Amino acid sequence: MSKISLVIPCYNEEANIPLFTEAITAVEREMPGVTFELVFVDDGSADATLSALRGLSKADSRVRYLSFSRNFGKEAAMFAGLKAATGDYIALIDADLQHPPALLPEMYAAITEEGFDCAATRRISRRGEPKIRSFFARKFYRLVNKISQTEIIDGATDYRMMTRQMVDAILSLEEYNRFSKGLFSWVGFSTKWIPFENIPRVHGETKWSFWSLFSYSLDGIIAFSVRPLAISSLFGILFCFFALLGSAFIVVRWLIFGDPVAGWASTVCIILFATGIQLFCTGILGQYVAKSYLETKNRPIYITKESSDSE
Ligand code: UDP
Ligand code: MG
Repeated sequence: MSKISLVIPCYNEEANIPLFTEAITAVEREMPGVTFELVFVDDGSADATLSALRGLSKADSRVRYLSFSRNFGKEAAMFAGLKAATGDYIALIDADLQHPPALLPEMYAAITEEGFDCAATRRISRRGEPKIRSFFARKFYRLVNKISQTEIIDGATDYRMMTRQMVDAILSLEEYNRFSKGLFSWVGFSTKWIPFENIPRVHGETKWSFWSLFSYSLDGIIAFSVRPLAISSLFGILFCFFALLGSAFIVVRWLIFGDPVAGWASTVCIILFATGIQLFCTGILGQYVAKSYLETKNRPIYITKESSDSE
């Protein structure tokens, strides 16, 4: 018998939890020789998610849960769940049924029969997503893959099954600013990509706004590339070069035509432009300094308030 742990981050998912558990039970019946462990991580939900989990873990011996002292974000919830999971194979899956449990047997077969270390899913379409979001998402993947050594796959979701060995590798990365899509790729190991169609949420709504995704994408860039720092140095060099060229031009013009007093407007524009670029580059530097600041504080990634293990 091998054991599969499912790690399920939940933030205000009270309506989805019973449906989710039912769907998993149906899949488990199709997988003889496998037992399941369900590790729910309540990420500081404001609804009745926690009491639903308490009830479920009493009634169902496969179910364990952790509950955070506040909302720490999905990344923290996934980390906590992976840490708590005890299975030989561990899968990350959303509670909202957007990650079809019916794919689990295929993922399991990819690892146990085909010899992959990980079976991950990838959305083949962005149907049902706002156009502007798809546009920026595509641009983000283009950019981050251009400037980072770590490949970040477009459309990759967090729905994946991994071997214990790979999960241990991920847990050994204890950084505070976690960007899982990059971490999964950074640790290496072989991955089988399973395509699937995007499906809408059953209950509730997405917790991601456009701006939260935007700031998450900046985190991803900063966590996996220091190229923006190099780009700002390049700006500096480029500007010095233009300044030299401009000075040479002025000297030559003075030698030929004398000293015309003009061009204060263009001077102001140049000053504004140059200081703008300077602030921009300082801002980039600041982002990295801020991230290092947060890392050096060494705060825990999450704080558990209650768990089924402590009862
Ligand atoms: N989630 C979480 N903490 C958060 C936000 C989301 O644990 O702060 C969970 C959520 O309950 C769900 C999964 O992460 O199980 C994916 O969230 P969501 O469906 O909002 O994201 P989307 O599917 O739109 O990318
Ligand atoms: Mg979802």
